[in-house]
Amino acid sequence: MAAQTVASTTDSTSTVDLGPAAALSCRECGHRVPLGPVFACEECFGPLEIAYDYSAYDTEELRKKIESGPANIWRYAPLLPVPADVADKPNINPGWTHLVKADNLARELGVDAGKLFIKDDSGNPTHSFKDRVVAQALEAARAFGFTTLSCSSTGNLAGAVGAAAARAGFRSCVFIPHDLEQGKVVMAAVYGGELVGIEGNYDDVNRFCSELIGDPAGEGWGFVNVNLRPYYAEGSKTLAYEICEQLGWRLPDQLVVPIASGSQLTKIDKGLQELIKLGLVEDRPYRIFGAQAEGCSPVSVAYKAGHDVVRPQKPNTIAKSLAIGNPADGPYVLDIARRTGGAVEDVTDEQIVDAIKLLAQTEGIFAETAGGVTVGVAKKLIEGGLLDPTLTTVVLNTGDGLKTLDAVAGTGLTATIRPNLESFREAGLV
Ligand SMILES: *Cc1c(COP(=O)(O)O)cnc(C)c1O
Ligand SMILES: [Zn+2]
Repeated sequence: MAAQTVASTTDSTSTVDLGPAAALSCRECGHRVPLGPVFACEECFGPLEIAYDYSAYDTEELRKKIESGPANIWRYAPLLPVPADVADKPNINPGWTHLVKADNLARELGVDAGKLFIKDDSGNPTHSFKDRVVAQALEAARAFGFTTLSCSSTGNLAGAVGAAAARAGFRSCVFIPHDLEQGKVVMAAVYGGELVGIEGNYDDVNRFCSELIGDPAGEGWGFVNVNLRPYYAEGSKTLAYEICEQLGWRLPDQLVVPIASGSQLTKIDKGLQELIKLGLVEDRPYRIFGAQAEGCSPVSVAYKAGHDVVRPQKPNTIAKSLAIGNPADGPYVLDIARRTGGAVEDVTDEQIVDAIKLLAQTEGIFAETAGGVTVGVAKKLIEGGLLDPTLTTVVLNTGDGLKTLDAVAGTGLTATIRPNLESFREAGLV
C-alpha cells in the first residue's frame, strides 16, 4: 500500500503543486484543461488563464495572513499559482516597491494635493517590473520539470530571466532584438546565461521563439512569456494588490499603466477584480488608462478609432521596452479601458524625454522611457480632461532610467572649473 502511494506521487502524470491554482481556463470560451505548460485553447486558440478555487477563503483571515507575510510578492502567495512554501525557495523575491506620494509632480500637473502617486517598480532586483512575472514563471518551470529558462524580450525581461535563472540554478538562454540599449544588453548578459541577438524587431523575435518551442531544439525549455505565459501573467496582479494594500486596502480611482503586449494592464484589472470579489477592498468604480509611445501605438490608435481589433505596426520609438507592434492582449486592453471608463493615449518621443525629466526633477525618480510614457500620458490626459485631477491616481513607473541613459543624453555637467574659488565664481554659479 505504502509503496503504491509513493509510486503514484512521483508519477509524471501526478498533479503539480501550484497552490491555489486549480486549472487553466480559456479566456474566450471557458474550456478548462489541467495545469501544464500550454498557453492556447485547443478548442478556439484563445489564451489560457489560471483559474482558482477561492471559495474557501475567509476575508479577514486572508488579510491577516497577507499583512504578516514577507515584504515581497510572496505575501500574496495564497492568490498566486505558486506552492505555499514558495518563500523558502531560491528566488529573487521581487515586489513591495514604493508607492510614492508625488505632491510636487501633482502641483506641476494640476492634480489635487495628496491625490497623485507613483508606483515605482524600478526598485525591483533587476530594476523593472519584469521580476514579478518571471518569479511566477520560475515556479511553474520548477513544477513542470524544465531546466532551461528562456524568453523573447524587449530588454527588461531578458535581465529578469537571467537573474532568476542564476539564483535558482537554471540554465538560461534568452532572445532579444539585436539593437537594444547597451544598458539592457549588459544587464541581461551579466548574469552569465546565453543572450542571443536576433536581426529583427521584437515581433520577429517572438515568432522565432514560437518556432523554437515546436522544434526538438526547444525541448525542455520554459519560455516564460510563451509556453509559461498563463503563470507569468499572474505576476502582474501583485502590482494591483500592493497598490491597494499600500493605500490602506482601498482601490485607487484611476491608474495609468504602460502597454507593451498589454498583459500587465489586463492582469492589474484581474487583480483589482479579485480583491473586490474576496472582500479585501470596498467595491467602487475605478478607471484604467493605457499608455503607449506614438512610435508604437497600435492599441491607442484602435482605441481612438473605436475599433475592437488592433492593427499591427512597425515600431519606431525610444521606448523600446514597450515596442511591441502586434500586442497579444491588445483587444482585452481595449475592453478594459472602455468598460472602466478609462482611455488609451500615446505621447511622442520628445514628450517622453520631457516627462522623464519632469519626474526626476519633481520627485527624484529616474524612470526609463516606459516611465516617461506613463507620466507623459498622464499629463496629456489631464490636459485633455480625460483624467480627473481631483481623484486618487496611481501612475506606474515600471523601469529604471539607468538602463536607458541615451534618452537623456543631452543632460550633463553644469560647468567645468579649476579647483579654486575664483574659478567657481567665474562660472556664474554664485
Ligand atoms: C514589459 C514591460 C512593460 C509591460 O509589458 P506588457 O507586455 O504590456 O505586460 C511595461 N514596462 C516595462 C519597463 C516593461 O519592460
Ligand atoms: Zn477556447
